[in-house]
Amino acid sequence: MTAESETPSADVPALRVAQLEKHYGALKAVDRVSFEVRHGEIVGLLGPNGAGKTTTINMILGLLEPSAGEVRIGGIDLRARRGAALARTNFAAVYSALPGNLTVRQNLRIFALLYDVVDVADRVGTLIEEFDLTHLAGTKCGLLSSGEQTRVALAKALLNRPELLLLDEPTASLDPSAAQLVRGKIKGLATSRRCGILWTSHNMLEVEAVCDRVLLLSHGRILLEGEPGSLPARHGAASLEELFIRVAREPLSARLDGAA
Ligand code: ATP
Repeated sequence: MTAESETPSADVPALRVAQLEKHYGALKAVDRVSFEVRHGEIVGLLGPNGAGKTTTINMILGLLEPSAGEVRIGGIDLRARRGAALARTNFAAVYSALPGNLTVRQNLRIFALLYDVVDVADRVGTLIEEFDLTHLAGTKCGLLSSGEQTRVALAKALLNRPELLLLDEPTASLDPSAAQLVRGKIKGLATSRRCGILWTSHNMLEVEAVCDRVLLLSHGRILLEGEPGSLPARHGAASLEELFIRVAREPLSARLDGAA
């Protein structure tokens, strides 16, 4: 199954997660989590340290076997058709750096081959241009600055034209100017390519600027969900940051009806 052999369907969400669970002994790291990411939508997956964000993302990426529940990418059941589902998604995070001894072009080429991209040279060339990497194409990735590495990681994540993009703190190590440029690029992916994006961040101002919707996770459960502009006021908070802090410190008082 190649990355491009099936056309994304507009009427099914890019991602549907239903009653997802991950248990480690008595600990429910992820506990009956259900949500969707539609095409063209940027959804923020927020929560304090240890809330279950990375565990959720790793299950969506097929890296961790869920204890229960279902993941569908572009309508395709990850468990039943793993290759086809994963061909529709990609991922970027600061902690998954590309091999530092390979150049930017070599890295992109190797990942394109791994993803079964049909037009490897064209695709790599287009993304090198799009992410302003032409002058760095022959440079080893290990020598790049954080901002440059983030741009390469995003280019790599788009090689297979994913309909779902998972971004774990994509701007974490960037200066404010580089972070703004990267945010602009990612917003562009959602609007022009109709990519569904699941974004984790601890920067609430960034989340307010970028995300169409947020999910606030605590102790493995989704406690709150809504638009970042209106959610704080609905729960008596002045800002998303204030609401986040309240959820982090007193998760039970922030619990939505029916979430218990
Ligand atoms: P952070 O913001 O710090 O990255 P997170 O929301 O991504 O946190 P997770 O990494 O998903 O949190 O962890 C959720 C919970 O599951 C934590 O309590 C963590 O200690 C626990 N956990 C994660 N992996 C394992 C494991 N392999 N074995 C046991 N417990 C685990």
